[in-house]
Amino acid sequence: TAASPTFTLGGRFARDLAELALPWQAEEVADPRLLVLNEPLAGQLGLDPAVLRSEEGLALLTGNRLPDGATPVAQAYAGHQFGFYAPRLGDGRALLLGEVEDTGGRLRDIHLKGSGPTPFARGGDGFAAVGPMLREYIVSEAMHALGIPTTRSLAVVATGRRVRRDTVLPGAVLARVAESHLRVGSFQYVRATGDADLLRRLADHAIARHHPGAAESEQPYLALFRAVVAAQAALVARWMLVGFIHGVMNTDNMTISGETIDYGPCAFMDAFDPATVYSSIDDAGRYAYRNQPLVAEWNLARLAEALLPLFPGTEDEAVGAAQEALAGFREQYSQTWSAGMRAKLGLPAGVDGEAASSLVDGAIALLQASRADYTSFFRTLGAAARGNPEQARNLVPDTAAFDAWAERWRAAGPDAEAMDRVNPAYIPRNHLVEEALAAATEEDLEPFGSLLEAVTRPYEERPGLARYAAPAPEGFGPYRTFC
Ligand code: AMP
Ligand code: MG
Ligand code: MG
Repeated sequence: TAASPTFTLGGRFARDLAELALPWQAEEVADPRLLVLNEPLAGQLGLDPAVLRSEEGLALLTGNRLPDGATPVAQAYAGHQFGFYAPRLGDGRALLLGEVEDTGGRLRDIHLKGSGPTPFARGGDGFAAVGPMLREYIVSEAMHALGIPTTRSLAVVATGRRVRRDTVLPGAVLARVAESHLRVGSFQYVRATGDADLLRRLADHAIARHHPGAAESEQPYLALFRAVVAAQAALVARWMLVGFIHGVMNTDNMTISGETIDYGPCAFMDAFDPATVYSSIDDAGRYAYRNQPLVAEWNLARLAEALLPLFPGTEDEAVGAAQEALAGFREQYSQTWSAGMRAKLGLPAGVDGEAASSLVDGAIALLQASRADYTSFFRTLGAAARGNPEQARNLVPDTAAFDAWAERWRAAGPDAEAMDRVNPAYIPRNHLVEEALAAATEEDLEPFGSLLEAVTRPYEERPGLARYAAPAPEGFGPYRTFC
């Protein structure tokens, strides 16, 4: 692997936490072809899009050429997968290239996914297919456009390699950008080593990078835990508000930064049903839509267990403090969710809490009874607030129930403009994502590009894009997602 002078990458994680960083190299990519490049994100990272598009750039984006001084590493972590503890997961098909300072002065990880097997591969082939990497790209960029904290996608490069799944698929490498790739599972891994100094160094690293306010506290590690609890509670509330179903909320897929990570079998709920599960690997429905807050809280209890030696007092006192801090989850979750629902209904500040929750409950009852398309229901309420209820009314078969609720709601004086700023017209709808990924797998990137254009300006309704705002056609589904 030749060095590149194009940009420099720091190796702070690899240096500070060498015990968690296994130096490793990406697999050679003989025939790289750029499928998509995120030019605005490249700009934020101070990278020149023209250089990234060049032969040298593609070599960088696949790990085949390294910026000066970079040491790519596979990160070690553990995790509870579907409730069962796996002591050694780690990056089986991914590499942290290093950190870059963005134009705002923040450190951002540059990470490759699908770059070949590492010693953590555990029987996996180490590769990724074009479809799933483009799914991660489009869903993560849609989430970002919706204002939800998430890892970002910088590029997807087709490798020319054939990847064996149920069928043989074209291979790809995703270049991903994150505040960091520290996970709940990173702490679980370190706790299991019994190395108290390493645990403290990991916590200090997390505080410095993500929750610097915790350093000011008299109990910095408890403050770190509180900060992660608050960030995750707000994050999952925001998933619920847009109907996002992560699909595989294992503790290794939950970040310390509070960013959404690991877009595998994820999907947005179309017809409203709290029990919705799309993932083909989640038979028991552990990660169903409605379970997401409970699972997040459970995962954070695992984080508390890992951090316990750093909490003050006797073991009993430390457990008590952890429990008290974890109670903050429900508080933060309810606050973010309730405020978000008020905004979705456009309720003015004068509407009191009780009246607001009665209207919210009424809206959810309508959704539940009608199994209406979640995104369309809220978006069409914007028109209803302007006195054109027909579209929203058409989504609810029990029109008498709709009219009774809508009369109460209109009387509260909903602000249609404000609603249109929080209720997206365009999300990566399942049928559209499938269509785009199937075409891309056959080398037609046009549908992917059009969908990306729609979902990265989600609130701005544009002529000619009606198809992207419409619910799935009759006969689509039951939908299944695969990692
Ligand atoms: P995930 O369910 O995507 O969070 O992945 C769980 C673990 O499996 C992680 O350690 C991944 O690195 C690893 N993994 C997933 N797919 C592959 C693959 N194709 N080859 C090697 N490791 C993989
Ligand atoms: Mg993962
Ligand atoms: Mg994954």
